[in-house]
Amino acid sequence: MSAEQNIVVKQVEEETRFSEKLTPYLKELSKTSQAIKDMYEFNPEYETLPANLDVDLLNEKTSTPVFGTVKKYDGQLLVLLSYTCAANCRYCERQDRVGVGLDVEGRLKMSQIDDIVDYIANDKSIYEVIASGGDPLTNPKGLQYLFNRLKAIDHVKVVRIHTRYPLQNPGKVRMELMEELAQAKPTVYLSLHIDHPDELQPEVIEMIRAFKKMGYVLLTQTVFLKTINDDKETLKTLFLRLFELGVRPYYIYHGQEVTSTRRFVMRLEDEMAIMTQLRNELSGLAFPQHVIDIPSASGKVVVPSEHWQTDTATVTDFYGKTVRTADWSPITN
Ligand code: SF4
Repeated sequence: MSAEQNIVVKQVEEETRFSEKLTPYLKELSKTSQAIKDMYEFNPEYETLPANLDVDLLNEKTSTPVFGTVKKYDGQLLVLLSYTCAANCRYCERQDRVGVGLDVEGRLKMSQIDDIVDYIANDKSIYEVIASGGDPLTNPKGLQYLFNRLKAIDHVKVVRIHTRYPLQNPGKVRMELMEELAQAKPTVYLSLHIDHPDELQPEVIEMIRAFKKMGYVLLTQTVFLKTINDDKETLKTLFLRLFELGVRPYYIYHGQEVTSTRRFVMRLEDEMAIMTQLRNELSGLAFPQHVIDIPSASGKVVVPSEHWQTDTATVTDFYGKTVRTADWSPITN
């Protein structure tokens, strides 16, 4: 291959790779925390393939009633306000849409948010709207506009923000905006994606306390990650610390396999063993639900603990479709 061809191949590889992106805050933190370093730093030893842009791991691309949304459950609508994040987690399951170089759609425009609001206004069954992404805090104007417009829709009772931004860029969160958003509805949930106790740095804890004062109901979502949090003690420390801060651990997910995530995916059985030990040792309020978003099926299904003798070879989704857990191949429709 000529030197010129080599450059072209390298460019293509870089454009189709899930990009490395860290904030200065995370760069600094990764000097002292191996977990943070592994969560964010591109590792050429493991990530040898380009990101799979065609993947639809969570069946989101086929559940889009209006551009920029996902509707998989009755009563709820997910709004993907931005395909950008402050930093790119190496285990991102939306690597087909998130990330510098792959970010083809970017942030939702106001006219697209108007279309979404019209859709919500016309569907009286929607009681909950969830702002997600990427990270919705990377589209602050869009988030502010969406929440302002939702104030006028009575059948939307609850709004929720899913974000990792406060853990990735704590000094840059627009706290006046957060204060305003907390007033959008009588109940506003703020769900933080957090995977390791090292993420609970003093500036993050200070922000959590401020969010509480603003009136948010605080939750967390966590992903099981091999080498990061694949042991009971790490998760116990995390969940107890959150519990003490008044933050309810909500979900812990089975990690899914897409190109950049392979090295982090755990065996379901190992996750179940850890959850069983945690259930024996934690207050119910500090114990999240262990769920799996079934690939090639629909719904976040609760994973059983080892307190029961269960057959984990197959799982059935919300609509009766049964798949094999070994390879997620369908048995019935
Ligand atoms: S914050 Fe969420 S959406 Fe963004 S890169 Fe991390 S896992 Fe993906």
